[in-house]
Amino acid sequence: MKDSSLPNIVPLLAAGLLLLSGCAAEIPPAPNPTASSASASPTATPTQTATETSAAPDAQPPAAPQPPAFDAAKFSIDDPSSLWVVSNKLRPLNPISFEPADLATPSGLPNPQGHTLRTPAVEALATMAADAAAAGINLSITSGYRSYNTQVGLYNGYVSRDGSALADTYSARPGHSEHQTGLAVDLTDGGGCTLDTCFAGTAAGQWLAANAPTYGFVLRYPEGKQGITGFMFEPWHFRFVGAELSQHMATTGTSTLEEFFGLPAAPDYAP
Ligand SMILES: [Zn+2]
Repeated sequence: MKDSSLPNIVPLLAAGLLLLSGCAAEIPPAPNPTASSASASPTATPTQTATETSAAPDAQPPAAPQPPAFDAAKFSIDDPSSLWVVSNKLRPLNPISFEPADLATPSGLPNPQGHTLRTPAVEALATMAADAAAAGINLSITSGYRSYNTQVGLYNGYVSRDGSALADTYSARPGHSEHQTGLAVDLTDGGGCTLDTCFAGTAAGQWLAANAPTYGFVLRYPEGKQGITGFMFEPWHFRFVGAELSQHMATTGTSTLEEFFGLPAAPDYAP
């Protein structure tokens, strides 16, 4: 009897200490006795719940600063020289013949036509291409910066070939092209899906879709978002916005700049 009574008391004491220590961080030791009766008497439960919910707001403020605050107004979305400029069918570049001041030639990946990009995009692209190569993905550039006048020639050529209605689904009118910002690049693996939606199914397309945000690029014209971006799915077209924004968009699951910045959908040009 002596041997069995002692072990019975020790676990009870230990349990009591555990309860005390477990609750100490949230509520004072006083509620502890009621906690045991709360499970037995239903009337005590609301009181207990009220105590906990009223204590919660006091406990939360110290933890609140932890979520990273994102300043969506940090950079302009209107200034054509801003990394966050949003260009679409309703938002022509202003001035419409804007030319970037810091164009440079990318290095570290094939660029047979000698396209240029803005310096921040050049640096990020070099890092991304190197990491892609390490993963067995060999990227090359099919398009980069295009001037207003270049876009005039391209767009007019597409219109004469396909008509303006069709051309408007895949080619921006001059002054509305992201390529004119110097922040957009079309990438390929050199295979048969260059500038084709089947690029999304290639190893390169999948690697880019998954990893581009790490380097500050967003897949600017996602699948199923033509009603918002105004352009068909372009799994090869990546827009540099800086890693702060691209990673935040990826984390929050926001796939278009229009949705992220609360801008109106831009399926068509203004009449
Ligand atoms: Zn493009």
